[in-house]
Amino acid sequence: MRTLDMHCDTLMHAVFRNQNDISRADLFSLDGQVDLKRLSEAGAVGEFFAIYLPPATSFITQWGAEFMEDEDYIAAAAQILAQSVEKHPDIAARAFSAADVEKNMAAGKVSCILTMEDGRAVLGKLENIKRFYDLGVRALSLTHNFVNCFGCPHSDDPRLMEHGLNPFGKEGVEYMQELGMLVDVSHLSDGGFSDVADIVKGPFIATHSNARAVAGHTRNLRDDQLKLLAEHGGVTGLNLCPPFIDFTEGNTHTSIEGCVAHIKHIVNVAGIETMGLGSDFDGIFGTQEIADVSQFDRLASALGKEGFSDGDIEKIFWKNTLRVMREGMK
Ligand SMILES: [Zn+2]
Repeated sequence: MRTLDMHCDTLMHAVFRNQNDISRADLFSLDGQVDLKRLSEAGAVGEFFAIYLPPATSFITQWGAEFMEDEDYIAAAAQILAQSVEKHPDIAARAFSAADVEKNMAAGKVSCILTMEDGRAVLGKLENIKRFYDLGVRALSLTHNFVNCFGCPHSDDPRLMEHGLNPFGKEGVEYMQELGMLVDVSHLSDGGFSDVADIVKGPFIATHSNARAVAGHTRNLRDDQLKLLAEHGGVTGLNLCPPFIDFTEGNTHTSIEGCVAHIKHIVNVAGIETMGLGSDFDGIFGTQEIADVSQFDRLASALGKEGFSDGDIEKIFWKNTLRVMREGMK
């Protein structure tokens, strides 16, 4: 199944498993939800590999890992992606633009795109955005779930949720456009979303967010936000995390039916051009009926039964994201 999935946290696990010797890490065959072998066998177009920056406290408590400074962690994650592709040049290649993805597709290789989740390591300095760009980062989630130099995260607390971008955040977003690094609003506050929509001229993305009208979690997007995203020619990626699909208390399972409900809603509100994939594999809890990156064909057949054409499914699964890359990434 041709897919271009905009978010996974696979690199974090690879860093933690290989903290003693990063040079040994290889993304080829892993026991999580994403690896190069399965991507290649499934016929994937590409995968966005996020450098997700865990909160300092969660290294030990949540992951049983040694604490790492952000700069060391970022370098390790970037190295793992680079060396994994070098070790498997027959099936995978790096991509820094839509043209790279097209070239890799023609060669039958999976495109690996480096992104970053949480702009905290930017530390309020444009030169750090440039440094991460030079490292290969082509999309940045401005925030994760905490306040940083860009602004505030999504939250139940209206003081955070309504807070727009900081002055530096606005400057940073301008600069990212100049560089060709996509602005990702997933995890961002509603106020921050509005500022991004005001500032960004072309497309921006929500790499892994669903519809708040279907599942009332603050991580999801409101209908008016989906429409704004559509006006910008942007795309939002379907996130398979159980509460973002079905916000019923205690839900720990993501059904294909639930995924289809979000896709139908987003397509109705914002058009077929606005829907993409953002699995969040290796970063989510519970169980998923689409259990790993090799199983998107199950979603495709469910969509087919709902009347989506093959062309529609191609747009959702990879073409919309490739379009956004062509317009906003360089
Ligand atoms: Zn996330």
